[in-house]
Amino acid sequence: MNHFAYSRASDVADAVRQIAAEPGARFIAGGTNLVDLMKENVERPTRLIDISRLPLHKIEETRDGGLRIGALVPNTDVAYFPDVEQRYPLLSSAILAGASAQLRNMASTGGNLLQRTRCLYFYDTATPCNKRAPGSGCSAIAGHNRMHAILGASEQCIATHPSDMCVALAALGARVVAVGPGGERRIPFADFHRLPGDTPERDANLEPDEIITAIELPSQGFAENYSYLKVRDRLSYAFALVSVAVGLRLAGDTVAEARIALGGVAHKPWRAHAAEERLRGGPASAACFREAADAELAQARPLRDNGYKVALARNLIVRTLGELAA
Ligand code: SF4
Repeated sequence: MNHFAYSRASDVADAVRQIAAEPGARFIAGGTNLVDLMKENVERPTRLIDISRLPLHKIEETRDGGLRIGALVPNTDVAYFPDVEQRYPLLSSAILAGASAQLRNMASTGGNLLQRTRCLYFYDTATPCNKRAPGSGCSAIAGHNRMHAILGASEQCIATHPSDMCVALAALGARVVAVGPGGERRIPFADFHRLPGDTPERDANLEPDEIITAIELPSQGFAENYSYLKVRDRLSYAFALVSVAVGLRLAGDTVAEARIALGGVAHKPWRAHAAEERLRGGPASAACFREAADAELAQARPLRDNGYKVALARNLIVRTLGELAA
């Protein structure tokens, strides 16, 4: 591990000042991903700015009837917060499907958004990887790509986003609150994470001198009819091969509104807009659910080892919608 300086941020403005002054610095809160990356020599920060004592540990009501989750609230505390359990059980389910209890106790809400891909080549500094070393190539395209993306990938990178929590936040239509030298701004969740394109080294549309301070949930939580279904290689402590978060609102036998997001299939949590569009206003029938899934997955571009994800994603969407409609 390289040598690095350590300092503590006294408040949010001080955190922004410190990160803006030293481009090689990184914020540290729970450290559940960053410390691993430092041990593997993937991340080599010149300074760690400890933000763990900033006053961002609260979950509060917003004026429009939603919920504001401070960026430093541990994942476990979000999952078991009574208002989250009652009004946003989709979010609780997704969080509890991820990592291990120990990691969830340490990992912060903001850090969960910024965790990096678990592509094995990204962690293996002996291999080319455009995300770790831009311009060096992508070892996964011709390598082992069973875990990689089927949607939205590029010739530069086919990595997937590893978070479960973010899949639920995408389905719920959350907003990310960030503060930088120019003040505070709100980023719709769909615009927060990026597809790889020609700049796979950038995971998110967060400027290097910005800090996440909160996540805001809208008032509609789909608490009556929701599901987070995750398929993985073993029952716990494994990343999704494919996961699906669904919130469904029915009016009789008609789909009034469907929210669908997929995990494990793209460089970002994948909001299934094409499927949602197909479902809106149509009958809640198995045939329509199959059509919606097909519409979404028409865009899929599987690789040598991950073609199974297309059928898996399709079946998960159809099965989840069918269970919720029943
Ligand atoms: Fe690197 Fe992305 Fe290729 Fe993995 S998929 S080796 S992270 S460029």
